[in-house]
Amino acid sequence: MQTGVVHLYVHVPFCDGACRYCAFYSERFDAAPADRYLDALTHEFHEAGNRGLLPKVPRTLYIGGGTPSVLDIHQLDRLCRLFTDRFHITRETEWTVETNPGSLTRDKAVLLQQAGVNRVSLGVQSFSDPVLRQLGRRHTVRQVYDSIADIRAAGIPSLNLDLIAAVPGIDAAAWRRHLDHAIALVPDHLSVYDLTVEPGTPLARAARTGKWQAATVDTELRRIHTAALRLAGAGYHRYEISNYARPGQRCRHNLAFWQGGDYLGFGPAAASRVGLDRWTNRPSVKSYCTPWKSDLPPRRFETLSTETDASERLAFAFRLLDGITLRPFLDRAPGHRARWMKALNTLRKDGLVSRQGPRWKLTDAGIRLADTVASALL
Ligand code: SF4
Repeated sequence: MQTGVVHLYVHVPFCDGACRYCAFYSERFDAAPADRYLDALTHEFHEAGNRGLLPKVPRTLYIGGGTPSVLDIHQLDRLCRLFTDRFHITRETEWTVETNPGSLTRDKAVLLQQAGVNRVSLGVQSFSDPVLRQLGRRHTVRQVYDSIADIRAAGIPSLNLDLIAAVPGIDAAAWRRHLDHAIALVPDHLSVYDLTVEPGTPLARAARTGKWQAATVDTELRRIHTAALRLAGAGYHRYEISNYARPGQRCRHNLAFWQGGDYLGFGPAAASRVGLDRWTNRPSVKSYCTPWKSDLPPRRFETLSTETDASERLAFAFRLLDGITLRPFLDRAPGHRARWMKALNTLRKDGLVSRQGPRWKLTDAGIRLADTVASALL
């Protein structure tokens, strides 16, 4: 029988600059620190193998960031070999790499395809050059089209496009045109996110000093509603609050996360969930690349109670719009039935969740207030 955690994530903590809205951990790309990062990453994989955490045949691999495509082609090759030298990667293994226009080249796309990558996620964000500049992106719309041509020419079969909704300056008609541009590119999957103003970002500072004004909540909701309708009309099923897929094209890595599966994360800032244990590596390339005091990189580690673990998994699972049944969560924490039923019945009275037989799901109002639903279940 296979042992080990079958969903693996690698965080590449480098970008070619900083987007004004971004709250993820990343550093500006430089070749020497990136080489040291790859040395440390190899070490972290080795230690996970020694602890029996790695599988022989992973089900999903996900290289995210940051911007993995900012690595040079030799570094990208080294990163892929971390997987191909260790694991038996089959046609059933979903292997995703996040990329950005401007740093993904035809050569890199070919290298990824030859390594076995079968899914690429491209950070398009907008089909307007002024909006891309407003967001602090370092690429143009032309480069979006070039990257997609490179991905297709390389023969990578599955493509996700990321889009940001409700950017100031994009009115309802312009947003519909954005969606039509995206649909015309025939991606297999689309992720559509609100532009969240995260504390500490340049955008938050600009908003505070009146130099930039965020869209209203009402506008955000209308833009997401438009996306849901237009994408449904084009054959994309909204299976998670921010994610839409053609039949058979849901992201299996993220699904595993939402459905309560265990996963291992590698690299600075990467998080892991194994049984009741949670750990997150310190978000620092410097400390990740400095010789570790123990066999492990600096990290925050905690062990949850059975009830907290099950509640956390349940709260994430509610993001799936087909809904959930309580049974798998009750199997983890049978004593929590009364507490969850009380919370769910209150949410149902408030119109945020609905129930059909054993299946619970978010209502339209619940989708808009998903954080409230999650808090009630935690
Ligand atoms: S490319 Fe992505 S990770 Fe990098 S700064 Fe922009 S949003 Fe953040």
